[in-house]
Amino acid sequence: MEDIMQFAQFVLGMISTNCYLMHNRREAVVFDPGGEPDEVLAYLESNKLKLTHIFNTHLHFDHIYGNRPLSEATGAPVLANSRDDYLIATDRATASFGMPPVPRFTFQNIDEGSMSILDTPMRILATPGHTPGSLSFYLPEHGKLFSGDVLFYRAVGRTDFAGGDTQALLASIKEKLYALPDDTIVYAGHELATTIGGEKKHNPYVRG
Ligand SMILES: [Zn+2]
Repeated sequence: MEDIMQFAQFVLGMISTNCYLMHNRREAVVFDPGGEPDEVLAYLESNKLKLTHIFNTHLHFDHIYGNRPLSEATGAPVLANSRDDYLIATDRATASFGMPPVPRFTFQNIDEGSMSILDTPMRILATPGHTPGSLSFYLPEHGKLFSGDVLFYRAVGRTDFAGGDTQALLASIKEKLYALPDDTIVYAGHELATTIGGEKKHNPYVRG
């Protein structure tokens, strides 16, 4: 059967955060709208898509700026892990980077487990370390992983922000992400995409 799943990438916000969109030509989901979501909204409109979910890999400000405007414009709920609540409890983090505060939003708590999106299964992996509530989203039928700031092309996420934990980060990558098939495409929160197999072989921080 032809795979009708479509994929789009936007680079949003002041820290060039990757925002990803998947759709099945009727419904769409978005991962990490990290800035003004105008381009995302235009894409949804021109492809006549109903946005069903907004997922956050974690609650650092550069991944969540667009949550509220995108949710308000579409009615889609925001889903994230509440272990990252502390990151949005104050505006200190954005202020310390000289950034405007994140527009307030509410989210539904999700944790490790499975759910169905766009008529396809999705596994939610708890991958703490960059933040305690970091989640990675794996679509087994499409060989795609949205890893946020946990695993990057030939790099790993920073752990020097509040709540970071290097041992936890390395364990998340080794035990959860490197357990996925080698040909899984890893869509990271910043910069280039990669593959699980490529990182197992060449990542200078964690070898598989
Ligand atoms: Zn981050």
